[in-house]
Amino acid sequence: MIDLDRVRRETPGCEAFIHFDNAGASPMPEPVFRSVTGHLDAERAVGGYEAERRAKPALDSFYTGIARLLNAGPDEIAFAENATRAWDMAVYALPLKEGDRVITHGSEYASNMLAFLQLAARWGIGIDIAPSDESGQIDVAALDRLVTSRTKVIALTHVPTQGGLVNPAEEVGAIARKHGLIYVLDACQSVGQIDIDVSKIGCDILTCTGRKYLRGPRGTGFLYIGRRLAERLDPPFIDLHSAVWTGERRYDMASGARRFENYESNVAGRIGLAKAVDYSLAIGLPDIEARVSDLAATLRRELARLPGIDVHDLGDRKCGIVTFSAEGLDPFDLRSALFQRNISTSVSTAEHALLDLGRRGTGPINRASVHYFNTEQEIDRFLSAVLAVQKDL
Ligand SMILES: *Cc1c(COP(=O)(O)O)cnc(C)c1O
Repeated sequence: MIDLDRVRRETPGCEAFIHFDNAGASPMPEPVFRSVTGHLDAERAVGGYEAERRAKPALDSFYTGIARLLNAGPDEIAFAENATRAWDMAVYALPLKEGDRVITHGSEYASNMLAFLQLAARWGIGIDIAPSDESGQIDVAALDRLVTSRTKVIALTHVPTQGGLVNPAEEVGAIARKHGLIYVLDACQSVGQIDIDVSKIGCDILTCTGRKYLRGPRGTGFLYIGRRLAERLDPPFIDLHSAVWTGERRYDMASGARRFENYESNVAGRIGLAKAVDYSLAIGLPDIEARVSDLAATLRRELARLPGIDVHDLGDRKCGIVTFSAEGLDPFDLRSALFQRNISTSVSTAEHALLDLGRRGTGPINRASVHYFNTEQEIDRFLSAVLAVQKDL
């Protein structure tokens, strides 16, 4: 059981504000906030280098904490400034050549699709889009049939930004293993709200950001890359942290995931994200997952009962993200009106999800995303606010 009084006390913003944009940027818990400002204080006092040396245990815990979170090894974790760069560092390092094919799905994150389109233009790779099954998740049987001898990679977004769907990551992992394919999982929206085990999922690469369900600081993220694969990949950029200059004309790559990091980074951010991971682990991912999906199921059910509201979430299995639209109400106006009532939500647009919202023809839709520190009372207040806005606008 989650100690709700405590997690709410440690989320001071939730007294005056209903945070329903946890899939956008969730507020940092107090201990995370203090670890960031504490490090900035130390930098001010003794300078950035000495502060970093003194923070070594906290910085080491970044790797061990995330390894525990994912059931991976600390040498398989790299810090990145965000999830997109983490994904790019790994994907632009893949040994793809003209005629090779990657398979992805309509729920793929926009930046990942843009990267594949750039690689299609640059290297001549082909992109196949696996169809959805009738629930809207990736159709695993169809995916299996889509694989050819040219296929090298399966890329999947575990939980899309624009809906509550949870893709069957483990089943996709079994297909990847069966065909000997590299499996890249964008777990940006799932880590921190869903209990993740990379050895069960069978992904080779996993990426995540700090600010969403992990409740870390902005400008942070990480890459998980399996040990054996990491040693085979040549990162798109290297520096004196990811490689060692061993002779005037020679260098060795750092081993493990470190070859995907760079030297200079936001040290306070790394410390903050390490703390955020510890905080999530201390609460317990199974409890977080149960509470988040319960709250979201309540929100989805009650929203669907309101007049003029459509709920848009797809998938057999759903998570903390709830998408909806209100008849006759511009989604951006609704978001602003809710914000004026001290409720944060966001809007997902078709331009950011052409293969999903674009194909469904929804136009922009509203998104409310709950976390474990939210409450049933907040859901009630949110529903009343939506009703009030429907009357006003
Ligand atoms: C937010 C998000 C990203 C990008 O994360 P950044 O840290 O902003 O780069 C990638 N994939 C999904 C599914 C996301 O929701």
